[in-house]
Amino acid sequence: LRSKLPDVGTSIFSVMTQLAQEHGAINLAQGFPDYDPPQALLAALAQHVTTPGHQQYAPMPGLPRLREAISQKTAHVYGVAAPDPATEITVTSGATEALYAVLAAVVHPGDEVLVLEPAYDLYGPAIRLQGGVPVYVPLTLPEFRPDWDRVKAALTPRTRLIMLNTPNNPTGAVLTPQDLTTLAELLRDTTTLVLSDEVYEHMVFDGQPHHSVLQNPELRERAFVLSSFGKTYHATGWKVGYCVAPPALTTELRRVHQFVTFSVSTPTQHALADVLPDATLFETLPAFYQQKRDLFRELLAPTGFRLLPVEGAYFQVANFSALSPGTDDVTFARRLTQETGVAVVPISAFYHDGQDHSLVRFCFAKQESTLRAAAQRLQQGL
Ligand code: PMP
Ligand code: GLN
Repeated sequence: LRSKLPDVGTSIFSVMTQLAQEHGAINLAQGFPDYDPPQALLAALAQHVTTPGHQQYAPMPGLPRLREAISQKTAHVYGVAAPDPATEITVTSGATEALYAVLAAVVHPGDEVLVLEPAYDLYGPAIRLQGGVPVYVPLTLPEFRPDWDRVKAALTPRTRLIMLNTPNNPTGAVLTPQDLTTLAELLRDTTTLVLSDEVYEHMVFDGQPHHSVLQNPELRERAFVLSSFGKTYHATGWKVGYCVAPPALTTELRRVHQFVTFSVSTPTQHALADVLPDATLFETLPAFYQQKRDLFRELLAPTGFRLLPVEGAYFQVANFSALSPGTDDVTFARRLTQETGVAVVPISAFYHDGQDHSLVRFCFAKQESTLRAAAQRLQQGL
């Protein structure tokens, strides 16, 4: 068989989770919470999953009542004109399907797609599956800021799309309004589109708001903006997300979405439509995760890891070079999992060429007891 992705192994998240299970390690590798969704959401699902009439295909773009709730939420949170549920909002099988469908919809063979690295692991392979050419622009260490001069230098007439991710997985960095203004200026006379992966939109810390591409009118006109209910409602296993995009872009996205999954599970959409109008559920998330971030940083302080700043999302990146000089990050992550009993992800997994900066990623979307148990192992085992 001639593989379409010959150089791609199994995703690092599956690999580290399996290794964690084999060695009884605490899994701070794969990003998922070890607590449940809000009770109101679980109760709503229990109700809809037993409601006759809610068990068949949902409309292809998503349940109208869920799209309406997304529209109102978007206007409320970002202070923007409400996106039209009929023409600008599409419910997808997680942000993952939205990413794939957007790329399939707009990338022609030979088109270039700019990716700021380190980047979420599916971006590069999903671009290549469309015959696209990923063009990688490094984020600048140590704070993983975008260097817009380098982005400018990488833009060509073939640049079909630039992919943004704010708050960022794995780095925890966020884009500022100035970043968005600068990007809008760079793209002004081009036909380059924007895909903005904002699945961690409700996890931004230290009193800062999340700055959405939807708030920049120039970018919004050319952008697909993605979110994920899995992140917002501690329900990564539900795999429901959505995309907000102008009508012409939404039309193209739906051309693909209808032939990838057609539609998303009906009872879960009803349950989400029930709870989404209650803003307290997501408005309390920044404080909820900031507390976890602060606790975890405090717990790691005595361990010898050098902690990078975390402005958003639920990941802590840490430099281990003082603990294990000369060790590459993959070896270090494996040892930490096997010998210390705490599973992490090596940051090289987020670089297409496996660049090693002696960094690993911890997920702190865990109960306090889990974080304390992990820290205890780290303090004793290092
Ligand atoms: N983008 C980023 C940056 C993510 O971290 C994730 C979650 N792993 C996704 C997309 C996928 O989201 P979902 O689980 O809704 O498919
Ligand atoms: N987004 C999650 C992470 O970064 C994992 C998603 C997955 O397992 N594919 O860890």
